[in-house]
Amino acid sequence: MHLAELAEHISYLKPDDVALVEKAYQFSKSAHAGQFRKSGDPYISHPVAVAKLLAKWHLDAQALMAALLHDVVEDTPATKQQVSEQFGKAVAELVDGVSKLDRIEFQTEAHAQAEKFRKMLLAMARDVRVILIKLADRLHNMRTLDSMAAEKRKRIAKETLEIYAPIANRLGLNSVYQELDDLSFRYLFPTRYRVLAKAVKAARGNRRALVEKVLEAIQGKLQDAGVEAGVTGREKHLNSIYKKMQGKSLTFSEVYDIYGFRVIVKDVPACYLALGVLHGLYKPIPGKFKDYIAIPKGNGYQSLHTTLFGPYGTPLEVQIRTQDMHKIAEAGVASHWLYKAGDELANDAQQKTHQWLQSLLEIQSESGDAIEFLEHIKIDLFPDEVYVFTPKGKIMALPRGATAVDLAYNVHTDIGNRCVAVKINDELAPLRMELRNGDRVEIITAPQAHPNPAWLNYVVTGKARAHIRHYLKTMHSEEAAALGEQLLNQALRALKTEPSAIDEARWTELLRENNVKSKAEILADIGLGKRLNLVVARRLLASGESVLTEKKPLGSITIRGTEGLAVQLAQCCRPIPGDPILGVINKGKGLIIHTHDCPAIAQFRADPDKWVDVEWDPETKKLFDVNIKLVVANQRGVLAKVAAGIADENANIENVAMEEEDGSAYASMIFTLQVEDRDHLARVMRGLRQIPAVVRIARVKR
Ligand code: MN
Repeated sequence: MHLAELAEHISYLKPDDVALVEKAYQFSKSAHAGQFRKSGDPYISHPVAVAKLLAKWHLDAQALMAALLHDVVEDTPATKQQVSEQFGKAVAELVDGVSKLDRIEFQTEAHAQAEKFRKMLLAMARDVRVILIKLADRLHNMRTLDSMAAEKRKRIAKETLEIYAPIANRLGLNSVYQELDDLSFRYLFPTRYRVLAKAVKAARGNRRALVEKVLEAIQGKLQDAGVEAGVTGREKHLNSIYKKMQGKSLTFSEVYDIYGFRVIVKDVPACYLALGVLHGLYKPIPGKFKDYIAIPKGNGYQSLHTTLFGPYGTPLEVQIRTQDMHKIAEAGVASHWLYKAGDELANDAQQKTHQWLQSLLEIQSESGDAIEFLEHIKIDLFPDEVYVFTPKGKIMALPRGATAVDLAYNVHTDIGNRCVAVKINDELAPLRMELRNGDRVEIITAPQAHPNPAWLNYVVTGKARAHIRHYLKTMHSEEAAALGEQLLNQALRALKTEPSAIDEARWTELLRENNVKSKAEILADIGLGKRLNLVVARRLLASGESVLTEKKPLGSITIRGTEGLAVQLAQCCRPIPGDPILGVINKGKGLIIHTHDCPAIAQFRADPDKWVDVEWDPETKKLFDVNIKLVVANQRGVLAKVAAGIADENANIENVAMEEEDGSAYASMIFTLQVEDRDHLARVMRGLRQIPAVVRIARVKR
């Protein structure tokens, strides 16, 4: 029964496509078998109704298949994979797009949120067909809302009024917009709707005579002038009457006693011709004429609007437009499919939408501000933004590609500076994860945390970038200056001078000689390796005299491991307190600490100019990362035993990687541990050697 109904509507498709749509119907019917709507109808009646609505716009076969299948992935055991295999990837993507929209609910009460929410839906859709399917779905659900519980009716009606009706309006789907708008009104304000509907019905009888008289007069005049035209009377939809009464504080009769007429002609010159004829027939009301042909509305709508003094002084609102303009006015974005049905070249949705935009652009180009107009439409359909929810349900707009770090800085600089982790849709995710439309994002902060230079690799907002840079620069130069002071003092002592012996006057002189503003700047330069400590020390002492050239052993600098960015422990050898160490100044990065035997610095070791003597502060109060490698017998539970052994010695496991050795009798495990110092590490390794399965154990330095 449903199939025959559907077949009637899709006769515009090619036979192959009709067969595909019928196959989708059969698939959907068996998937939904045994399911019923609240009304008692078999569930399949709903997807069929949605497909029929889309067929009215002559949408392509893919869109119709997707309409028939739009609830199968969400509500039946059928999977996206199956849809993709049987009907192609494009159809599966459309179904997936509609399901995604279904999953997100508009919950917030705030009005300002509605606009962002609409944009989010449009952004999620990507393909305009997804929105068209969703609108048809919503329209059918609204038409059958009676069978829903009262509470649910109100929620759906409110969502329709605030979200879906305006989207339909925005896309120029006028008849869908009016129906959604009226149905929402009916369920949100049942009493007002009933009273108004009754008043309209009563008034309609009185109108008939006048409407017929005016129609006859207009048709006659146009014929005399040789303008070929179709003329109709039209009625306002209920919610628009209601809104007018509310907005302008008018009574029902003040709103309703305005009569509407529509004149449809064959081309643009005929529009203006008809306008002249009408202005000759009835006097126009000054200030009411609007030329939406020269300056179309944002959604592409075009017409001439004028209001006339009719018989007995009754106001008559007249719209004059061409047939093409009428199609766009009624079906908006969908009108493109109406025009081009059966066009073999145009079956790609993006391309079609683009063509639609292009056709609007051509209409528009006569009016001048074409580019601005196109940008306007494009932003709505394919925005460069993503929309995400905060835990409190607020919607935030961010540029496409934005991460949690961008969001954190967008909320507040302090949140950005202190963020350590993020939950996306209640699951922990890396901070670098790209946010998607509709994600619920919760930033986790810690009071001691600060920005990580690695964030600069993936943040996309200027705000986040600027704040991270600013923080790093300030922190970096403070830390570098502290290190620089130590390095300078070390050099001064080597030259047998106490740092306190250098007076301020000498410093001032040095600053002037070097054309820098502050002592801190010089010290930071030393810390960052941009100036050599010995050179600065000699300049401070020598006052221009020739300087010592012989090399003196310098005292060493103490390292606590908590200096921050100016002093870094090398990742290759991971030095820990107790290890013999040396420092290498890396220009721009500061001092890097390696172990004496680190292979990475083998070539520097012989050249004392290249490195700085450093030693551990005896009071380091910090845990240090270190890598150890174990070879173990490949047996069940060995990892647990090793982990327990490590915990027994109070060391933390930061990371573990495993690889199987040849023949898989043995496996090797590389642990990154946190220990206090060398003694602590030694205790850990001693403990692990007691485990029988452990064959070999060694510290790893690369
Ligand atoms: Mn549905």
